[in-house]
Amino acid sequence: MNILLTGGTGYIGSHTAATLVAAGHRVILYDNLCNSQASVADRLQTITGHALPLVVGDIRDTALLSKTLTTHQIEAVIHFAGLKAVGDSVKDPVTYFDNNVGGTISLLQAMKAVGIKTLVFSSSATVYGVPHYLPYDEKHPTGAINPYGRSKLHVEELLSDLAHADAGWRIACLRYFNPVGAHDSGLIGEDPSGIPNNLMPYVARVASKALPQLTIFGSDYDTPDGTGVRDYVHVMDLAEGHLAALISLSKGDSPIRYTNLGTGIGISVLQLVDAFQRASGQTVPHILAARRPGDLPAYYADVAKAKAELGWTAKRTLEDMCESTWHFQVTSRHANK
Ligand code: NAD
Ligand code: UDP
Repeated sequence: MNILLTGGTGYIGSHTAATLVAAGHRVILYDNLCNSQASVADRLQTITGHALPLVVGDIRDTALLSKTLTTHQIEAVIHFAGLKAVGDSVKDPVTYFDNNVGGTISLLQAMKAVGIKTLVFSSSATVYGVPHYLPYDEKHPTGAINPYGRSKLHVEELLSDLAHADAGWRIACLRYFNPVGAHDSGLIGEDPSGIPNNLMPYVARVASKALPQLTIFGSDYDTPDGTGVRDYVHVMDLAEGHLAALISLSKGDSPIRYTNLGTGIGISVLQLVDAFQRASGQTVPHILAARRPGDLPAYYADVAKAKAELGWTAKRTLEDMCESTWHFQVTSRHANK
């Protein structure tokens, strides 16, 4: 299949590209490089042995998207492109809605114009908001608590309306939990510029001594050790989840589906720090501090639907997540010297 990956040079897009090419698909990357680098395409060539075309463009450029869809005879789109920093979305909601919602509208217009109706959308567990119960299953009420989450929810609602208007569409909304880890090659991974917001890249930089210590946000939550609990899922498992979603869309007769992609296991900040120290052989100095505003104490996925409908289950362990993150941290540090 010829598959367009918007946001294809980003963290999850690049790992999914590697998995799709290994499964025999032809992948075209489309990215405006606002949060990634063109060199990712070269690294993917080293990993896969195939040159992956990269179109540098914005998803809000509907004409360029339509041309790309036609030129490369695209049959399905996986839509990763988007902005994802919750704090920035609070400060600048207009930019977030323009990029995430406006960008998706532009993509759908381009797909409609050329008659492509197969779409996998990068949604997020943040659409659920404050837990009414745990684990979150897909029937849990939605209620995002920040502009980033609401931008994802708006897109899900738009896609739902579209699927009801035209039953010819095949849409998978994949609600990711906390993606971490890196490709075994150490050539691609999560490499945020500046100080990382997310736990795993922050821990990796402390372990490599690029940052002095980790600040643990909150140690008085109602969780087993008082620190926040999340469902960390290996990015290569997530990548395989996209392949499974595409296969299931081609077989299914439902125009739209919503599926959690997580492990179903809640891990605390202290558990993750401990696992990382063991995997890396490094110490991760840390201090306990106040809660981060807007953080939820704990959430994790019910993964039964992913298993039943996609035949997909996360296979990799917390140890695998930490080891691959550390391998990427060490490899990328040498590559950048
Ligand atoms: P990322 O920032 O690494 O990748 C996103 C890519 O999209 C980047 O390469 C960026 O340059 C590109 N992009 C952004 N706006 C664009 C635009 N207007 N036109 C073209 N390209 C554009 O992020 P990621 O972690 O790979 O996330 C991919 C998707 O998954 C995002 O939509 C994100 O919201 C969603 N998601 C991520 C997480 C997570 O924790 N990483 C969790 C849930 C959902
Ligand atoms: N966290 C932390 N210190 C950091 C970054 C994150 O203690 O420097 C905690 C955060 O409070 C949460 C967990 O780690 O309990 C996961 O945070 P992350 O930002 O990675 O994911 P999210 O909160 O978006 O699920």
